[in-house]
Amino acid sequence: MPRNPAPDVRRSVPRTDAVLADPRLAEDVRTRGRDAVKDAVRVAQQRVRDGEAAPGDVVDLVLASLPPAGTTLRRVLNATGAVLHTNLGRAQLSPAAVEAVVTAAGATDVEMDLATGRRARRGRGAMAALAAAVPAAGGVHVVNNGAAALVLAATALAAGREIVVSRGELVEIGDGFRLPDLLESTGARLREVGTTNRTTLADYAAAVGERTGFVLKVHPSNFVVTGFTAGVQAGELTGLGVPVVVDTGSGLLAPDPLLPEEPDAHSVLVAGADLVTASGDKLLGGPQAGLLLGRAELVERLRRHPLARALRVDKLTLAALEATLRAAANPTVDAVHADPAELRRRCGEVAAALADAGVDARVEPSRAVVGGGGAPGVELASWVVSLPPHLAEALRRGDPAVVGRVEGGRTLLDLRCVPAGADGALVGAVAAAVS
Ligand SMILES: *Cc1c(COP(=O)(O)O)cnc(C)c1O
Repeated sequence: MPRNPAPDVRRSVPRTDAVLADPRLAEDVRTRGRDAVKDAVRVAQQRVRDGEAAPGDVVDLVLASLPPAGTTLRRVLNATGAVLHTNLGRAQLSPAAVEAVVTAAGATDVEMDLATGRRARRGRGAMAALAAAVPAAGGVHVVNNGAAALVLAATALAAGREIVVSRGELVEIGDGFRLPDLLESTGARLREVGTTNRTTLADYAAAVGERTGFVLKVHPSNFVVTGFTAGVQAGELTGLGVPVVVDTGSGLLAPDPLLPEEPDAHSVLVAGADLVTASGDKLLGGPQAGLLLGRAELVERLRRHPLARALRVDKLTLAALEATLRAAANPTVDAVHADPAELRRRCGEVAAALADAGVDARVEPSRAVVGGGGAPGVELASWVVSLPPHLAEALRRGDPAVVGRVEGGRTLLDLRCVPAGADGALVGAVAAAVS
């Protein structure tokens, strides 16, 4: 690569303004913004200066290098082995959910009955799918995320009143956000009962009174307490004469034998809970959303509360959620249930392709996790492609970006959350990172 190009090469590099004025770039300048295209022009001009491209190729280089959409968000292959990686956006949408989002992106009948031309219940298709997935729920509603679901429940049912909750369930959910603070921000007061490790039915019973808005059970989704412990199941709290609200967290709608400690909405409602809150982008495998399921009149009170309007989900979320609910599988479900033998086979193929490219790649057994603050005690038997440690950063900076984990002096790539169809792209990304 010539470091000091001859003056004639420098002169022959097309000027930025001239390139930006090229009619082939007009649409991109209009829709992506001039600055975004300009950045790509600068990179292309540098390649001409470096002797890597001809001056006449600049516009083609720009067109080829513009990201596929007007977002700075980058496509990432999640090779961390954490299925719901919070920093990588938790659940990956299924192809059907992505298609639904695209359909809903334009004008859509999210709030209109096309047969009559009249206003209809917003997102009724998604609500029907949610109700069908959890027949034990008399009513369903969807808000922005799990935290919003809790805030709506606390505001509508306990503002100015008390929420009775165990001291063992005052959870910090991540990035410094604590559920007790969130709940108190609604004007409800927390009435803490029991201790960190032990809470009994008698503790709850002694605290329930005229000021009680509801009793809250929070699933300790990101930690485990072992040893001398005692807790009370939601079903045991139903005789206290106040609503029982359960924050299940993960968004499982029905039991999953692989995750016996994770509560699911169906079982909790059948046990007698009045209201369940959950996240849409954890184990359900859908878009970010907060699910509210429970007794019809309670859900209706939440739905009609003024705050509900501020927590309303958009049409894209509703579309993705409905598609997720109507299908039996999605990338999250597939990743949690991936067959280790199949993962080992894929790792073998990737490692062999990399060895052909001269990369020191080995296949090793490993452990994956659910992640996203879920199923803290669970380890999923897995396999990884193990690479030299210095590759981690180059992999993150590549396209597609590949995020693995560095452990024991190696960069480990777990294929569990990498779509099988992307193994070739992964091999290409590693080869590019090596060179
Ligand atoms: C994740 C979680 C939340 C917060 O849900 P978001 O969808 O992230 O807002 C609340 N409670 C529990 C138990 C959780 O696991």
